[in-house]
Amino acid sequence: MTESYDVIIIGSGAGGGTLAHALADSGKNILLLERGDFLPRELENWEAHPVFVKGRYISKDSWYDRDGKKFQPQVHYFVGGATKLYGAALYRLRPGDFGELKHADGISPAWPLSYADFEPWYSRAERMYQVHGNAGEDPTEGPRSEPYPWPAVSHEPRLEHISDKLVKAGYHPFHAPCGIMLNEADRPHSTCIRCATCDGYPCLVHAKADAEVIAVRPLLGRPNVTLLRQAEVTRLETDDSGLVVTGVVVSRQGEQEVYRGDIVAVCAGAANSAKILLNSANDAHPHGLANGSDQVGRNYMFHNCKAVAALAKEENDTVFQKTLGINDFYFPTKDYQYPAGNIQMVGKSNAEAMRGEEPDLTWFAPEWTLSDTAKHSVDFWLTTEDLPVPENRVTTDREGNIHLTYSPSNGEEVDRLYGEFKKILNHTGMAAHHVLRKNFYMDMDIPLAGCAHQAGTCRFGTDPATSVLDANCKAHEVDNLYVVDTSFFPSIGAVNPALTAMANALRVGDHLRERMA
Ligand SMILES: Cc1cc2nc3c(=O)[nH]c(=O)nc-3n(C[C@H](O)[C@H](O)[C@H](O)COP(=O)(O)OP(=O)(O)OC[C@H]3O[C@@H](n4cnc5c(N)ncnc54)[C@H](O)[C@@H]3O)c2cc1C
Ligand code: SF4
Repeated sequence: MTESYDVIIIGSGAGGGTLAHALADSGKNILLLERGDFLPRELENWEAHPVFVKGRYISKDSWYDRDGKKFQPQVHYFVGGATKLYGAALYRLRPGDFGELKHADGISPAWPLSYADFEPWYSRAERMYQVHGNAGEDPTEGPRSEPYPWPAVSHEPRLEHISDKLVKAGYHPFHAPCGIMLNEADRPHSTCIRCATCDGYPCLVHAKADAEVIAVRPLLGRPNVTLLRQAEVTRLETDDSGLVVTGVVVSRQGEQEVYRGDIVAVCAGAANSAKILLNSANDAHPHGLANGSDQVGRNYMFHNCKAVAALAKEENDTVFQKTLGINDFYFPTKDYQYPAGNIQMVGKSNAEAMRGEEPDLTWFAPEWTLSDTAKHSVDFWLTTEDLPVPENRVTTDREGNIHLTYSPSNGEEVDRLYGEFKKILNHTGMAAHHVLRKNFYMDMDIPLAGCAHQAGTCRFGTDPATSVLDANCKAHEVDNLYVVDTSFFPSIGAVNPALTAMANALRVGDHLRERMA
C-alpha cells in the first residue's frame, strides 16, 4: 500500500526544513524525506583536519563536468542540509537585487516580486533563525519592518581596529548579520560559546542557527510530522495528464518505496532538485517534469567567490572573525559602472586546515612556520554576482547522474572587487601584496566543486515559456508540485543565499496553508 500524506517535502535544509516548520502547526500530515542522516555529534565536528583536509562531512556523491570527468562536489547530505556546515551569515538580498541590474557580462534579471514583497518574510526568517545584526550601518540595505531580533555580534579588538580604520578612510563597514545563538549580555547562559570553529564546521553544541536545530528538531515527536532519514527520492510519478504528481519514489535501505502526497515540495538543493525533475521525464513531460520551457537545470549560479588570507606582521588573535562586512562596491559607484560585490570575513585560518597550501604560504615570510602564518592572517571572503546563463546547467545522463556545465561570468567585476579589496588593506595596516588564496575553504581548488551557494535551476517567473515556477514557486505545468529551495532564484545577488531561501520557504508555507485551508 502506498502511504499518503497531505504534504511531502523532499530535503530538510534551508528550504525544506524551514517549509516543514512553517507547516507543522497546520495540523496537516507532513512527510519529510531526507537522503542523509543526522550529522554525528563528535569531537571531529570542531577539528580542522578531519573537516577541511579529510572532508569528513562532504558527501561521497559524484558529479561530472562538461567533459564527463568525475568530481566530488562540496555537498552535505544531512538533516539540515548545507546549513549544518554554513557560516550562518544571514543576509537579505538588497532591494536593487530584486530589479534588473546591468553587469559587465550582461543583465541580472528582475525578480517577479520586489524587496517590499519579501520584507515581511525576511523579518520572520530573521526571528526564527535568531539573526544578530545592527540595522542602519550598511547604506545598501533595504527598509525593515522590525529591528534585528538580536544585537550584532561584537567585533573582537582586531576587527574593531580594522572597522575604525575603514570608517576613517571613508568606507561603511557594518556588523555582519549572523545566525548564532550567542547571548553576549549573559555569556554564562549563552548556548553559543563564540569559538573559532564555526564557519565551514558543524556546531558541536548545536548553537548555530541551522535548519536541523531551528526548524526540524523542534518538530520531532509531533504526531503529524514524519521524518524519514536515508530516504533518497529518485523520481516523481504523475497521472496520465501530467498535471498531478501521484507518486514520490524513494530509495531507502536498498528498497524502493512510493509515497503519495496531495502537495509535493522539492527542496533538495539547486542541483539535486533539477536532477529529480529531469529524471522524472515521462510521456506527459518528455524532457523532464515541469520542463516544457526547457529551463529546468539551466541558469545554475553559485557566486564568484574568493577566500583570501591577508597577512600582517602583527598577530591576529581573533576567535570568531565573521563579524564585519563591506558593501561599498556592491552597486555601481562613481568610478565604476557595474556592481562589484560584497566583502566579508570568513572563519579564522588555522594551521591544520592550511597544511595542503604550505608551499604557497612560505614565500611571504620563509622563516615562519605554518602556525605563525595562520596566527598572522586576517581572513576575508569576496563575492561577486554571477549571471544566470542558460548554458550553465545541470543535466543528467542515462544513469541519472548530475553533469554540471559552468563557465564563469563577470570576471572583470571580480578583478575590480579584488582591486578595491587590496586598496582597503592599505588603509588597515595590511599590505596589499601580502594576500594569499585560501583554497581549502569550500574546496576552491576545483572550482566546480565549490557549489555551496548553488542556485537558479528552476527559476520562478510570470511567463511559463521562460520560467519553471510561478510566483508561489508552484510548477507552471503541474498543479501540486512546488520547488522551495535556492533553485527558484532568477538571479543570485552578491550576498549569501540562505536567508532568502528561508524567507521564501516561510512565504510559500503561508501560501500552502491558504491553499489547503
Ligand atoms: C561550507 C558552507 C558555508 C556556507 N556559508 C553560508 C553562509 O554563511 N550564509 C549563507 O547564506 N549561506 C551559506 N552557505 C550556503 C547555504 O548553506 C545554502 O545556500 C542553503 O543551505 C541552501 O538551501 P537549500 O534548501 O537550497 O539546500 P540544502 O540546505 O543543501 O538542503 C537540501 C537538502 O536536500 C537533501 N537532498 C538532496 N537530494 C535529495 C534527494 N534526492 N532525496 C532526499 N533528500 C535530498 C540534502 O541532503 C539536503 O539536506 C554555505 C554553504 C556551505 C556548504
Ligand atoms: S561560534 Fe557558536 S555557533 Fe559557531 S560553532 Fe562555536 S559555539 Fe557553535
